[in-house]
Amino acid sequence: MKGCFPLSSFNSLRTPFYYYDLDVLRSTLDLLRKEADRNEMEVHYAVKANANPRILDIIRAYGFGADCVSGGELQAAFQAGFPASGLVFAGVGKADWEIDLGLEGNIFCFNVESVPELEVIDQRAGAMGKKAGVALRINPNVQADTHHYITTGVNDSKFGISLQSLDEVLDICLKLPHIELIGLHFHIGSQITEMDNFAGLCARVNEIQNLLDRRRLFVQHINLGGGLGVDYHYPDQVPVPDFAGYMQTLRRMLVLRPGQSLHIEPGRSVVAQCGSLISKVLYIKKGLQNEFVILDAGMTELIRPALYQAYHKIENISSEEPEQKYDVVGPICESSDCFGKQVVLNKTRRGDLIAIRSTGAYGETMASNYNLRPKAPAVFSDDLRC
Ligand SMILES: *Cc1c(COP(=O)(O)O)cnc(C)c1O
Repeated sequence: MKGCFPLSSFNSLRTPFYYYDLDVLRSTLDLLRKEADRNEMEVHYAVKANANPRILDIIRAYGFGADCVSGGELQAAFQAGFPASGLVFAGVGKADWEIDLGLEGNIFCFNVESVPELEVIDQRAGAMGKKAGVALRINPNVQADTHHYITTGVNDSKFGISLQSLDEVLDICLKLPHIELIGLHFHIGSQITEMDNFAGLCARVNEIQNLLDRRRLFVQHINLGGGLGVDYHYPDQVPVPDFAGYMQTLRRMLVLRPGQSLHIEPGRSVVAQCGSLISKVLYIKKGLQNEFVILDAGMTELIRPALYQAYHKIENISSEEPEQKYDVVGPICESSDCFGKQVVLNKTRRGDLIAIRSTGAYGETMASNYNLRPKAPAVFSDDLRC
């Protein structure tokens, strides 16, 4: 099954470009809104997945908050009109100017990853005569079944505060005059499709909450981060993730204290399936054993295959001829600039359009201008006639 694209509009556009099917985005957001309300969860969309202003604008209009990991993302979220009360600021290395931006903007919460960071936020909040709302990002030491480059919640990870040091960090946190401890934050990785992984996280959070009880500490919110995966193999059959199953797992497993709110930070699951990278075939090159399809898009537009051996479905949307196998590569001067080996495509010729699917998350935001390539533009379904 191939995706459905407005080919006649595409043929007049310069390639490569990021194509966003806003109907897919809106149906994803409709379901996310419905399930978040039904399960009483606060959603902070992870801006790093896709920060395109038009995408941010649509997500904000659904009333979600945002999860930012840099000063630039905070600025993008402010510009898109996300209310400060819905903004969280995470990241293992926040610079002073970025912390100041969050403090000046009165954001909801800093997700803090170390004692030195706590001390800097305390000092800078004090200088402004403010108190910063803080959640401690705890490394729960639970394994997630995903690529090791995108697991974040194990003991040797650079992220978060270890369970072993939690007591000591709480002591320090409570002594700092310009810090208010309002939450606990967790994030175990990305592209997680096994609900058991989230259940394991919840079990660990329950243990940590017991530890807080023993210290007679109460925090207003628990933030379980992002990480829900999408189906990269079947973008048309499964365009919208199972938010219901995911949220029900969290709700069923987690034991909250009275008055505590539950927050999540989905990124990929919100935007991945609405995006495709559209590229043109420059050349078909016969190798000794394989045939190469050389595209005008490369790792500069989509780095995930080169960076994490990620799979993306690839389709020739110009051809209905019999299928054969090709190695699909980009034009960049790196051997890792390869989108897939032995990919089954309809017979492919120079000038055909190729869609690389599920690129709405970590596609455009991870683009670079390596080889001095210009930035590929974004094209939106609402602006084209089918
Ligand atoms: C990257 C990240 C997210 C979003 O992860 P997805 O896998 O895209 O849902 C959420 N929270 C934190 C802290 C992150 O680093």
